[in-house]
Amino acid sequence: MINEKEIYNGLRSKEVEDRLKKYGLNILEKKKTISAFSIFLSQFNDFITWVLIGATVISGIMGEKADAITIIVIIVMNAILGFIQEFRTEKSLEALKNMASPTAKVMRDGDIQVINAENLVPGDLIIIESGDRIPADAIIVQASNVKVDESLLTGESIGVEKTDSNENNNIYMGSIVLTGKGEARVIETGMNTEMGKIANLLQNIDEDKTPLKEKLSSLGKVLVVLCIAICIIVTALGIIRGQDKYQMFLLGVSLAVAAIPEGLPAIVTVALALGVSRMLKRNSLIRKLPAVETLGCTSIICSDKTGTLTQNMMTVKSMYYNGKMYSENSFNERVLTPLKKVFTYCNDSDLNNKEKDISKALMGDPTETALIKAFFSSADELKRFLNKVNRISEIPFDSNRKMMSVILNDRGNKISYVKGAPERIIERCKYIFIDGEVKLFTNSYKSKVQAAVDTMANRALRCIGAAYKDKGIITQNNQEKDLVFLGLAGMIDPPRQEVKPAVLKCKEAGIKPIMITGDHKNTAFAIGKELDICSHISEVITGEELDRLNDKKLAEAINKVKIFARVSPEHKLRIVKAFKKKNKIVAMTGDGVNDAPAVKEADIGISMGISGTDVTKEASSMILLDDNFTTIVSAVEEGRVIYNNIRKFIRYLLSCNLGEVITMFLASLLYLDTPLLPIQILLVNLATDGLPAIALGVDPPDKDVMYEMPRDKNESIFARGLKEKIIIRGSLIGVCTVLAFLSGRFFHMSLETSRTVALGTLIMSQLIHVFECRSEKHSIFEIKLFTNIYLVGAVAISIIMLIVVIYVPFFGTIFHTNPLNIGQWLIVMFFSGIIAMINSLYLFFNKN
Ligand code: ATP
Repeated sequence: MINEKEIYNGLRSKEVEDRLKKYGLNILEKKKTISAFSIFLSQFNDFITWVLIGATVISGIMGEKADAITIIVIIVMNAILGFIQEFRTEKSLEALKNMASPTAKVMRDGDIQVINAENLVPGDLIIIESGDRIPADAIIVQASNVKVDESLLTGESIGVEKTDSNENNNIYMGSIVLTGKGEARVIETGMNTEMGKIANLLQNIDEDKTPLKEKLSSLGKVLVVLCIAICIIVTALGIIRGQDKYQMFLLGVSLAVAAIPEGLPAIVTVALALGVSRMLKRNSLIRKLPAVETLGCTSIICSDKTGTLTQNMMTVKSMYYNGKMYSENSFNERVLTPLKKVFTYCNDSDLNNKEKDISKALMGDPTETALIKAFFSSADELKRFLNKVNRISEIPFDSNRKMMSVILNDRGNKISYVKGAPERIIERCKYIFIDGEVKLFTNSYKSKVQAAVDTMANRALRCIGAAYKDKGIITQNNQEKDLVFLGLAGMIDPPRQEVKPAVLKCKEAGIKPIMITGDHKNTAFAIGKELDICSHISEVITGEELDRLNDKKLAEAINKVKIFARVSPEHKLRIVKAFKKKNKIVAMTGDGVNDAPAVKEADIGISMGISGTDVTKEASSMILLDDNFTTIVSAVEEGRVIYNNIRKFIRYLLSCNLGEVITMFLASLLYLDTPLLPIQILLVNLATDGLPAIALGVDPPDKDVMYEMPRDKNESIFARGLKEKIIIRGSLIGVCTVLAFLSGRFFHMSLETSRTVALGTLIMSQLIHVFECRSEKHSIFEIKLFTNIYLVGAVAISIIMLIVVIYVPFFGTIFHTNPLNIGQWLIVMFFSGIIAMINSLYLFFNKN
């Protein structure tokens, strides 16, 4: 049972601790995560690997014991590499889920705090507002206009009204608050909630397969078939030539293991997941992995103004009352008391009772707190003022209506106070309070007020009108009708300093930044101009104008628009659809519950980490932890970098694997001795496919990445010449390796030495090529070597591996190699370096 003190001050920390011990965390049981061991085992869960193990065991029994053991060791090492990649992916995906967990606003120790919802306990007093997902089962103790969507539990998506009366005061975990505000006492948490009883409704982060991963998986299948076919030919030709059957079989399977890029989809996930953690460091939390890919294609960023392009640090700069403008230093003049009453009483800021300093004591929407700060300098003074009246009811602010109102009991008299967007207020006013009298609000008065609004808006001020009603019987039905106009407040919300350079960056990257705001056309234009988003008022369109355009007209007009002003969240959906129809890839921000449909519809739905509601966060594919526009631009940049990196290692892996296949295929077509033994092929695979490929996945951004146009969403990963690059380079690596092998034979080297030369050539040409893969435009001489230290390290490890295998006699015996002399190394270096050299010269001269 909850006592009075709990209602007003909430639970104390000690009580919370005890209850957490007793009832546990407020979470629904999670799906079991995959254990590290099963991830490791899954590395062997591949048909070709098993065939290889089988073949190795057979050849081991037949006598090649050293070979067999080494092959098994190599397979295990490969599995370890695969395990590291996948384990990292699992961990980062799990971390992502935890970070996206919801929060709850709760009263504890006499203070309103925002806590992680899993720390709620029965007895906690929670504050709920529109857009929140209710964090636990609770009973409403105070409500104004609360409607909730309980469709998750009941299937009924009609909003259900909730009050503090006994019949309909139950609210349940998982339901969404559609409108209003209220306080509720938690009665059940975690698995004891109604939701817990239907546990599998747990809302998870999507683990959708990313389109790229899917495309690569199907490509992988084609490659598997191709590789197997070639391996069969190589094996068959060897056997026809009378070579040892087991050896040839082993050779074929080893080649298949080495050549099939089975790890490709996994590395893509790793690159995406690593990118996600890099993005997190830059304040964007990715909720849906496919978004990372789409980010790179973004061509339009539709951003809210308040808080995203601007600082959301409102300061009232000017007031208009009784036909006169008042500036900051005169807000405490007595004449302004009527305005002070409307803006203070019709206000939803929360007050922390412990704080004396008004700036610290006030909490809530910056528009609301700014209005209070304009009139009060101490929290005590504010409290005294607030205590003079009682609030009876409220119609909260909502971005569609663009206004709010309250009914108060002022010393026995009922009075309605209303504030909101000036035109919404003006259209509801029949009278105006002027020179101490209530007069008819004639057109001449209206145009004076409109002129004052325009003056404020042209100074980039956000305008709020104030009105009241104190005559007649005031009810919730008429509290916003036949009002008396009082005055205006104009507040500044300075643009974020970092936004202007980010806007420029967008433009250079072929991305169009669009401002979407509920604010006045002129205010929006003034700020848009300051940020270089637009240059002429004709690029601004209002919600009203938008309503007048049919879809066809909108499609014609939309390319010219840079700012949508005085729009409602509903308009956003139309805007997204219109841009999408024009084949644009749209990123759209949103915070309120009404923004959720547009956020969901956008290619990249972005929600606000600070001001966003739970519903919008759930609809979004990315959360901006700092609500900042610049963060969107860095996320797009990161998206492009990740995509480029994926292209880099696909280019690398496929051309190298192709090189290996061509080497063996060409040799068998030419009826040569096998240039590489099975064990050597596996060594090549281990030395080149593992670490260097992973290191390419974390390559730092190419400096040109934000100077290119956004890529087409449907573009194949092999587009823009990548396929040709892979085929040409793969063939050349193969040809050069065979030539290196033939040179060995030509210079009368032993078969083992010739194979060592071929092995060296194949490995070295891949290790040189990995640096070329870092850029599609710049030659190897222009890329700064040490900007990817991981790659340098990975290549160094591979070279050491090669040297050890060639020069340490023990490994020499196992891998059938001979130490090479300088002349032989020259052959290796010549054949492995020649293609890179020619390619670099070509790139260099093509550019200059
Ligand atoms: P954005 O979409 O960029 O966040 P915004 O915050 O200006 O724009 P809204 O919050 O929908 O959009 O506000 C629209 C208008 O409603 C404002 O210009 C202002 O006149 C009015 N308004 C804003 N907040 C309040 C409030 N708390 N009470 C009354 N009116 C408000």
